[in-house]
Amino acid sequence: MQKLSFERSLKLFEKASRLIPGGVNSPVRAFKSVDTHPLFIERAQGAYMWDVDGNRMLDYIGSWGPAILGHSHPEVVAAVQKALPNGFSYGAPCALEIKIAELVQELVPSIEMVRLVSSGTEACMAALRLARGFTGREKIVKFTGCYHGHADMLLVKAGSGMATLGIPGSPGVPQGSTQDTLTLPFNDVAGLKALFAKQGSEIAAVIIEPFVGNANFIRPLDGYLELLSELCRASGALLIFDEVMTGFRVGLGGVQGLKGIKPDLTTLGKVIGGGMPIGAYGGRADVMAKIAPSGPVYQAGTLSGNPIAVTCGIKTLELLRSNYSFTDLAKRTRALVHGLKDSATRHGIPMSVDSEGGMFGFIFSEKLPHSYEEASTARVDLFKQFFRGMLHQGIYLAPSAFEAGFVSFAHTDQDIQETIAAADYVFAHLSQY
Ligand SMILES: *Cc1c(COP(=O)(O)O)cnc(C)c1O
Repeated sequence: MQKLSFERSLKLFEKASRLIPGGVNSPVRAFKSVDTHPLFIERAQGAYMWDVDGNRMLDYIGSWGPAILGHSHPEVVAAVQKALPNGFSYGAPCALEIKIAELVQELVPSIEMVRLVSSGTEACMAALRLARGFTGREKIVKFTGCYHGHADMLLVKAGSGMATLGIPGSPGVPQGSTQDTLTLPFNDVAGLKALFAKQGSEIAAVIIEPFVGNANFIRPLDGYLELLSELCRASGALLIFDEVMTGFRVGLGGVQGLKGIKPDLTTLGKVIGGGMPIGAYGGRADVMAKIAPSGPVYQAGTLSGNPIAVTCGIKTLELLRSNYSFTDLAKRTRALVHGLKDSATRHGIPMSVDSEGGMFGFIFSEKLPHSYEEASTARVDLFKQFFRGMLHQGIYLAPSAFEAGFVSFAHTDQDIQETIAAADYVFAHLSQY
């Protein structure tokens, strides 16, 4: 049975754990939920990363989404290198900001005006403040299993069955921060209608991952997003699509491009920075005009619109728009998940799969989940063994049963075939990992 050595990573992890809480600068990286330790990465190129033990890993995380062109795309590297001598940050406007705003507007037409920030968390936080400022209402609605960054008001424990008042999901979040956060299960049509019937006039905004990627991969039921859009319009609430993960990922125009739905506001992150720290929020011009300094809703950032990050984002988006076909990416991603499923089936292991563009989910369950509540009944024990087995074949999957995976344009058909072959081997030896 093939097993790689991750000894140096383990040593670094032990050292890191003395200096950095949990040894990592973001929790999921710690591999805690798969009962092992993280790999320390030395470099990344195309579809691969190399760890400090010299193992070459085929990467299906892609920095949790940004690396859609693969790592260190030569044209992106060249653009960034060219920008470096001109300074890292001005704290003053530069023409690059207009260029990325035009690109975003072209690719996501519901975004009439856009504001750049430095992370998806910031984008979601600011979009909700804006929605509250614009509507003069305080309640916000989110869905269980959807992640919108770590702002206090969004760290709410999942309610189930019906709308529940937000209960803080983390120590340090005061009750007051979440008392106006209402949660509903994803895809719960009756619950959604009931909530709007009862409290529609108090709701400032509904924020949603239109395809959920933070609770495995969950697709909205037919008509669900349309219903949500109608209910928001009828009650004067703003609809916010959090496309931090799905933007420029499930297709060039995100989920809204696929579905032909126009949210009032959209939040972006991940791919928009091509691996550098950028987030963005944008949408209706009349709403965006309320942001300072054109309006009274305050939001600011020292490094927002940073020229190096923006250069990286512009080149990434330009290449995506002109040089690559999402149809090809979708085909390759589908081939991957169907290959995994066929292999699981051959070994008598329950698995369901889904994908869109370069985003995918696989879950150890007989049927695809429609909500976080359904996803959480999957066989996490099988996932852990599978994850560790694949890691030992040099396949780097998201270390959680509840995270979507990503295929990049650098992944080849051969990479996909090798992954399926590795899965076949791992399924045959599952109990040994
Ligand atoms: C990653 C993510 C965020 C948070 O973005 P950060 O850049 O990590 O702050 C918000 N929403 C969704 C849907 C995400 O996937």
